[in-house]
Amino acid sequence: MGTASDERRVLDSIPTQLHIGGEWVDGRHGETICVEDPATEEPLVDVASGDQDDALAALDAACAAQSQFAAMAPMARGEILRKAYEAMKERAEDLALLMTLEMGKPLDEARTEITYAADFLRYYAAEASRISGHYGASVSGTGRVLVMQQPVGPAILITPWNFPMAMGTRKVGPAIAAGCTMIWKPAAQTPLCALALTQIFEQAGLPPGVLNLVLAKSAGATMEPVILDGRARKLSFTGSTAVGRTLIAQAASNVLNVSMELGGNAPFLVFDDADLDTAVEGALLAKMRNIGQACVAANRFYVAEPMVEQFTTMLAARMRGLRLGRGTDVDVDVGPLIDDSQQRKVNDLVGDAVAKGGEAIVGGKIPDGRGYFFEPTVLANVPEHARLLKEEIFGPVAPISSFTSEEEAIAAANDTEFGLVAYVFTKDMTRAMRVCEHLQTGMVGLNQGVVSNVAAPFGGVKQSGLGREGGRWGIEEFLEPKYVAMNV
Ligand code: NAD
Repeated sequence: MGTASDERRVLDSIPTQLHIGGEWVDGRHGETICVEDPATEEPLVDVASGDQDDALAALDAACAAQSQFAAMAPMARGEILRKAYEAMKERAEDLALLMTLEMGKPLDEARTEITYAADFLRYYAAEASRISGHYGASVSGTGRVLVMQQPVGPAILITPWNFPMAMGTRKVGPAIAAGCTMIWKPAAQTPLCALALTQIFEQAGLPPGVLNLVLAKSAGATMEPVILDGRARKLSFTGSTAVGRTLIAQAASNVLNVSMELGGNAPFLVFDDADLDTAVEGALLAKMRNIGQACVAANRFYVAEPMVEQFTTMLAARMRGLRLGRGTDVDVDVGPLIDDSQQRKVNDLVGDAVAKGGEAIVGGKIPDGRGYFFEPTVLANVPEHARLLKEEIFGPVAPISSFTSEEEAIAAANDTEFGLVAYVFTKDMTRAMRVCEHLQTGMVGLNQGVVSNVAAPFGGVKQSGLGREGGRWGIEEFLEPKYVAMNV
């Protein structure tokens, strides 16, 4: 897998148009998006780009299909999800290659994401038939309480480029299970995974108009009229906090039901009783998965004073040994960043930290050659006012500081407007629980550097978002309870 002919075959195997009302169509104005390989800066393929007229046509199609789809038996919706899951597993190698080509992550990481993404379909295939209401006595009189669960209605789904398949299935899976039709707008950098998934659903028998795919160069101008229209009743967004804020304001005009999975600034705490090997392994995963381009990426490392030197030395040795390259090449550990703006941003943040007194122990710069690479980097002595301790780095950069007490560690961890995830390494379970309770985050990785799990509630507090995805929480985001007061 990964030869030039495999790459061409995989690229040629997927549609390149918008999908509206069950038809593959070009954008009305014939515009296209050129998808680039971030490792080589070479064009891969052109796909159609729509505008607000296309997006409004997608909304019409979603509205037209909504009531019939809501009436489909939940088990039948589950059956479509199960077929799509099986198709993803069957095509897993091709899908992983497609993801590596458009997004850059090494093939092994892409394979892991395909498994994770497909599991959302497997999970929600079963969950569809577990949607249930309630019937019971009124607690205060003779009446009865009936609660039915109904789909929230046509949904707008907007997803980022960093996990192009999993961020899609984490929304599309529960939306289908709940009986919602949808307009899905993926990121312009990674339309190919979204096209492949839409094709899989079409072949799995999803009725026309249920999943409408809108690709667009200009996201804001394309989607704003659809959000302001008011017929879609749900807006489910994953992306940056800045864009999330804009979308919440737009959704407010018609009081749409919103779910927001936004940015993070995860602290990584290593206490003096932690197992250092476990902590370094966890750090490598939490920092380097997806080349640091994850909302759950460890952004700030705080290590107990007596261990900070040893931790830094061990992490630096591991980071130094990582091999950069195109994700399709064997033995590559770290791929490129997604594009030149991301590369510039990471470079600026490191430059700012070094100018303010930080010391690059490993890496710290853009390597020579083509592709949007950045060297795996470990920074020591980064002062508190460095921008990269306040902002999401979204790159392979680990700034390490020390702390002298549990209170100081917790205060430093919570000193951010974000609240997605924190990582805690300690063998003392009493301390672990105490620290978990005081951390202002939606999730904690305890002695492990990964939190993603299809059955768990993924999401954040503070400016990291509203609502949860995954597990039973994820399907509830696409359901509305309706209470019927019965006079019996
Ligand atoms: P982004 O906010 O720039 O874009 C996300 C999506 O929104 C893309 O599809 C983009 O085209 C679209 N978009 C941008 N402006 C828009 C507008 N005005 N109106 C409508 N749509 C618009 O984010 P990104 O750079 O693609 O992704 C990285 C961000 O996503 C990071 O902040 C990361 O933390 C966050 N993220 C969060 C989670 C989570 O679950 N909390 C998961 C993955 C990524």
